[in-house]
Amino acid sequence: MQVYKAPLRDMRFVLHELHGSAELTALEGQGELSADLIDDVLEQAANFTETVLLPLNASGDLEGCHYENGVVRTPQGFRQAYDAFREAGWNAAASDPAYGGQGLPASVYKLVEEMICSSNLSFGLYPGLTHGAYLALRSHGSQELKDAWLPKMVEGRWSGTMCLTEPHCGTDLGLLRTRAIPQGDGSYSITGSKIFISAGEHDLTENIVHLVLARLPDAPKGVKGISLFLVPKFQQDADGNPGPRNGVSCSGIEHKMGIKASATCQINFDAAKGWLIGEPHKGMRAMFTMMNSERVSVGTQGLGVAEAAYQAAVAYARERLQGRSLAGAKYPDRPADPIIVHPDVRRMLMTARAYTEGCRALCGWVARALDEHELSPDQQVRTAAEDRVALMTPIVKALFTDLGFEVANLAVQTYGGHGYIREHGVEQYVRDARIAQIYEGTNGVQALDLVGRKMSSNFGRPLRSFFHPVLAFIDANLEDEALADFIGPLAKSFGTLQQATAHIAANGLRDPEEAGAAATDYLRLFGLVALGYMWARMAKIAVGKRETAGADAAFYEAKLVTARFYMERLLPQTGALWSAIRSGKASTMALGEDRF
Ligand SMILES: Cc1cc2nc3c(=O)[nH]c(=O)nc-3n(C[C@H](O)[C@H](O)[C@H](O)COP(=O)(O)OP(=O)(O)OC[C@H]3O[C@@H](n4cnc5c(N)ncnc54)[C@H](O)[C@@H]3O)c2cc1C
Repeated sequence: MQVYKAPLRDMRFVLHELHGSAELTALEGQGELSADLIDDVLEQAANFTETVLLPLNASGDLEGCHYENGVVRTPQGFRQAYDAFREAGWNAAASDPAYGGQGLPASVYKLVEEMICSSNLSFGLYPGLTHGAYLALRSHGSQELKDAWLPKMVEGRWSGTMCLTEPHCGTDLGLLRTRAIPQGDGSYSITGSKIFISAGEHDLTENIVHLVLARLPDAPKGVKGISLFLVPKFQQDADGNPGPRNGVSCSGIEHKMGIKASATCQINFDAAKGWLIGEPHKGMRAMFTMMNSERVSVGTQGLGVAEAAYQAAVAYARERLQGRSLAGAKYPDRPADPIIVHPDVRRMLMTARAYTEGCRALCGWVARALDEHELSPDQQVRTAAEDRVALMTPIVKALFTDLGFEVANLAVQTYGGHGYIREHGVEQYVRDARIAQIYEGTNGVQALDLVGRKMSSNFGRPLRSFFHPVLAFIDANLEDEALADFIGPLAKSFGTLQQATAHIAANGLRDPEEAGAAATDYLRLFGLVALGYMWARMAKIAVGKRETAGADAAFYEAKLVTARFYMERLLPQTGALWSAIRSGKASTMALGEDRF
């Protein structure tokens, strides 16, 4: 049986103590937000995810989705859970009040999203995609389209999708063939086949709003000739309710490794009626609004799975009796000690803990930037926040999902053979986590985005949005002896990151293959330093509070122990990554293509 309790104490620490939730009230529309209100939201989300979504996680995985004659049925209980989710207002929580949303800032909602992903990743995809589609439509759609479609999407009565992928066209969207022919009445006729469309067809909502990438007749070749269209499953009748069926059909669902309760669909558009979102040929720009939001959300999926897997591993390690402690029997009255006494099991649990809490902290830092970009009244703050989001998006997406998968694997290893079999539900975490490294742009593509685009854009301005605060933090705390164990390793790894950045900037400009060969190692190096920055900041708070925290002292003590483990056992990986980067592309590229 899967176990999961939302880590509310740590979530409150990240939100209130590390990132100062009180500052959120200065943002537009957030004047009423208080710590009590936030805590109440988090508690309600914890209750919903633990009692409604978690019990459907393993059963949904076992049953999967069903396809019959174009109709897709989600596993038992999903429809009721979705109705309860919608009725409780969770679908509308993070959306604009102008369209019926509750305007909860990303800083709070990302924590709710984490809980959803921990308790039931498959379920989370349905509202997650709707929210991404909502964002793209709200940012780029005409007022008429927004008024017609957004309120029901925000309410959750209608869901959303993103339709990019075609059989011959995954990463390289320039190859896409779906066509859009203007009809002379403001609408378009869309024809083409899409594959791998999450939530493309299902039984949770009355209507499905597809955001579809397609080419206009006069479109230039490649990605510069792609436009974005809104294509509903049902057109609207005069009262705004689902009317005639549109030319959209589902010809099958994929049978896949994980997230089995999430319907992954083949969707055909046969002269389907659609409407242009944004400008002709500028579809990638509009779609990027959705893709960027989805990328941070996919990172949150990695974090969510990591937390659930970590909790499972801890629970098992406390109970499973095998062998004796190397320091002498700790529980002589029992036939053996619990495996949590063994250093190698500790290695796995501490690694999982340090990555998971570090990612939660970093996610909060990026979520704050999402909020400031959207809601700050100060243009300078908005621009700085936009830079931070742009830089950190590929890191959050790729690092968190890689670590989510690693932590899920560590959980299986902690269970031994009992993790490999189905009974305890930890092998599901490995299977579910795996897709997050692939969709929304593979992690390799995220790394290329980081070195190719983000590093050089605006003369390095996004890079400075990370480098400046880290440097300022190191400078401000360098003399503090109580923090020496944390600032020293951070400063060292930060220096390594600066060297690696300069190296890639120089060599990548000369030879793009050099940057391509270094990209994944560089992203990991960057991500580990970013987690180091978070751990050093968390350690500073813990040092300040542990003496006076009373009953909470154990929480801060554990933070310090975990921070120390991160600095001593995980952050040093940066040295090896820098060596690999420095070696250049030669050994990677030397073997001829016919020699493999
Ligand atoms: C369960 C599931 C759900 C999905 N949901 C959706 C969805 O809702 N909507 C949607 O549109 N799509 C969806 N996808 C598709 C997903 O986004 C793609 O699978 C992904 O973008 C990769 O494309 P591909 O599979 O064609 O791989 P390819 O593009 O063929 O890539 C294969 C490999 O080559 C590498 N590669 C490709 N090009 C480059 C390059 N230029 N440089 C370096 N390496 C490169 C990739 O990193 C990868 O390792 C989903 C897929 C799955 C499996």
